[in-house]
Parts: sequence; structure tokens; C-alpha cells
Amino acid sequence: MTNGETPAARASDVLVAGSGLAGLAAALGLARAGFDVVLSGAGERTGRGRTVALLDRSVAFLDSLGLWTRLRAEAAPLRSLRLIDDTGTLFPPRPVEFHAAEIGLDAFGWNIENDRMAETLAAEVGRAPGVERVASGVAAYDFTADAVRARLEDGRTISARLAIGADGRDSKARRAAGLDARIHAYGQSALTAFLAHRLPHHDFSSEFHTRGGPFTLVPLPASAAAPNRSSLVWVMADEDARRREALDNEALAEEIERQARSLLGAMRIEGERGIFPMTRQIVPRIIAGRLALVGDAAHVFPPIGAQGLNLGLRDVEAIIACAVEARDASRDIGGATALSAYERDRRPDIVLRTGVVDGLNRALLTHFAPVDFARGAALATLSAIGPLRRFVMRQGLRPHTARLRAKSSTPGSPPAAATRSRPR
Ligand SMILES: Cc1cc2nc3c(=O)[nH]c(=O)nc-3n(C[C@H](O)[C@H](O)[C@H](O)COP(=O)(O)OP(=O)(O)OC[C@H]3O[C@@H](n4cnc5c(N)ncnc54)[C@H](O)[C@@H]3O)c2cc1C
Repeated sequence: MTNGETPAARASDVLVAGSGLAGLAAALGLARAGFDVVLSGAGERTGRGRTVALLDRSVAFLDSLGLWTRLRAEAAPLRSLRLIDDTGTLFPPRPVEFHAAEIGLDAFGWNIENDRMAETLAAEVGRAPGVERVASGVAAYDFTADAVRARLEDGRTISARLAIGADGRDSKARRAAGLDARIHAYGQSALTAFLAHRLPHHDFSSEFHTRGGPFTLVPLPASAAAPNRSSLVWVMADEDARRREALDNEALAEEIERQARSLLGAMRIEGERGIFPMTRQIVPRIIAGRLALVGDAAHVFPPIGAQGLNLGLRDVEAIIACAVEARDASRDIGGATALSAYERDRRPDIVLRTGVVDGLNRALLTHFAPVDFARGAALATLSAIGPLRRFVMRQGLRPHTARLRAKSSTPGSPPAAATRSRPR
């Protein structure tokens, strides 16, 4: 560069904006598939008692990236699920239990602290050939017919044929491309914490359905200091969250134990806790010229049924498959054909998951007797009829996308879903 000249842009195949869990996975997967990738965004800690339960499909994808053995060492299996009605309804159903073994799986999923997962992914990104990680975020985008040019906060410019917006719910990439997001606030918040408790969880995830929202205890691995550990996601009305936020750890631990009906005995809160407002965010279009949105940039909903990041990782799998397919057919990886294929592939899964989670959340909040009755009857039916229960379990895990099933053998794309023998 000579004085007064603009520095040349760093040219790449793909720019991934955002190095949260979805962005890290996208950068790694695209680099493994042979693309030259720039990943923009500072590493950050989520902390505050946050975990993600990774379902079977996500485990298969992470395994295909060579990550699962390391993540598995930090995760706890969810081998059984227990649903307990605590709404005070006139039609209280008995608790329902689901066991992964009933559908031939070792576990429904694996629960891992967000920060442990991010550290593992970031370490692998740091080692992977084909990814340049820049800590600076994207300040501005210029989407043109041939390329996207992104100006970073540190003044550098990156040009790419495809930009992936993995920059979370307030996505700057989405706004820069003029894509709309419809946001609904539920008036609820999720209180999160890591808990040490007296009794073992026996690999059970327990979900109490309360009028404020679900109260869920999810297994965590033992630590040197505590043999029995779980993470808590307690969804409640905003005013209850404010009151509980003000409690000290001992008082809050007592409330948690009471709400858990002492299922796991006395509780102790480990480390920081968090409060996260519950919103639903519908993004009608997840592509624009040379841009594909993934993860929370493309969809946000309450943490019910462990769907958020699992859906985000399926976005990541799909955009990798579309880019590989375009390259193999000598087409533009950021062109309209590749991006339309991505949107077509992801739309049904996103619409279905957003709708189901929204419906489940609202069904708990309502005091309308017929809805209460239907909810109780549905749980009782599930409890009584094995084949129906197994069908529902499979639907809860199965991604609704044709491409992922059909393309699972594409080089550079992930392996087939729902493997029975998972690496341990
Ligand atoms: C309480 C709770 C429990 C949950 N439990 C589960 C669960 O069990 N299972 C599950 O699947 N999901 C769960 N989720 C959802 C899951 O945590 C999220 O879907 C997931 O973490 C989103 O990851 P992301 O990478 O898409 O977004 P984010 O984590 O928001 O990451 C976006 C990143 O982009 C960065 N960024 C922003 N702007 C820019 C910019 N201009 N340039 C560069 N970078 C930028 C941000 O700093 C951030 O690092 C839960 C969520 C909550 C709130």
C-alpha cells in the first residue's frame, strides 16, 4: 500500500461473521470442505449457567468435524426424559418418562456448558488450515453482484463470494441486507445456573411444567468438587425472574430445591447465574444477495426441547452442503441458485420448530380449561401407548430437511443422521 491508498481487500471464498457456536462450527466445516474462510468476531464467554443439550443429529455433525471425542469428554448423556405436570390443572396427568433405549439410541442428547464447547471449537479453528480468524467484528457490508465486501471494525476489508451471518439475534448482516425480523417478547425470562446436588441424576433430564414456563434440570458431568451436577433452565414470568435474581445463592437454591420437589436433594449454586429474556424471532427470508443467515441470526425461540443451537447446526450443515454442491457443479457458491437451495432446504425445519416451541410454551401459560384438558390427555396418552411415545421421540429428534438425508454422502458434507453406535 502507498500513502493515501485504500488497502487491498483480503479475498476469500467465505466470510463468516460471528464466532459464537454456530459461526465457529460453520467456519470449521467450510474449511474442512476445502474453502478459504475468514471468521470475524471476538471470542467471548457466555458463562452464566448456560449449557446446550446437543441432540443426535448435532452429535453426528460434530463427529464429522472430528470434534466429538473432545466434546464428549465434557458432556453428560441424557438417557431418559421425565415430564412432570406442575400447573395445578384440574386434569393432572401422571409423570411421563421417555427412554432413549426405547428407540434404539444410547442417549437423546448430550449436555455441555456453552463455554466448554466454544473453547473446544475455537481451539480446533485455531489449528485448522483454511480458516483465518480475525478478532475484529464486521462494521459494514457492501453486497454487490460479484462479491460481498465487509469493512471490519479495525479498518481492514474482507471480500468474499459468500457471507454467512452467524452474528446472533441482533444480526448486523441481516440488517445490512435489508432482511426483516419479527420479534415477539413473551414477558418471560429464563433463569440459568449450574447446580451441585446431593442425589444422583441417573442421566435423567427432568422437566416440570409450571404456569410460568418449564423448569428443567439437565445432567452435567461430575467435577472434582461435586459428584452430582445439573444445569437449570427455569422459565418464569419477568417479575418472578426479577425477584429471584435479587435472592442470594442460598435462598435461591432453596427455591430451586422446592420447585424440584427435592428430586435431587439439597442444591448448591456453582458460579454465576444468568437471566435471559424469552423472545421469538421470525426471519421470513434467511438469504439475500451473497448472504445466508444461520443460527440465532435466522431464528430465535424459547429454550424448550433443546432446539435452538441444534437447529442452528442444521443450518450450518445445509449451507456447507449447498456450497459444496455449487462448487462441484462449477457454480457460484454465493449465487442465487446455491442460496435458494439453502433457503428451500431450511425453511420447513425452521417453521416447524419455531411453531412447535411457541405452541408448547403458550399451552403451558394458558388457564383455558379445554387446552389444559387436551394437554393432560396428550401426556396421559403418551404415557400409555408405547408406539405413539416412540413416534413422538423420533419426531423430536428428526430434522425436517430432505437435503440432509439425501446428501449425507456428499464429500465435505456431514455423515448420515442418527447413527446407532455413537463414539463414547
Ligand atoms: C437459557 C437458554 C438455554 C438454551 N439451551 C439450549 C439447548 O439446550 N440446546 C440448544 O440447541 N439450544 C439452546 N439454546 C439456544 C442456543 O444457546 C443458541 O441458539 C445458540 O447459542 C446461538 O448461537 P449463535 O452462534 O447462532 O449466536 P450467538 O451465540 O449469539 O453468537 C453470535 C456471535 O456473533 C457476534 N457478533 C455480533 N455482531 C457481530 C459483528 N458485527 N461482527 C462479528 N461478530 C458479531 C457476537 O458477539 C456473538 O459472539 C438455549 C438458549 C438459552 C437462552
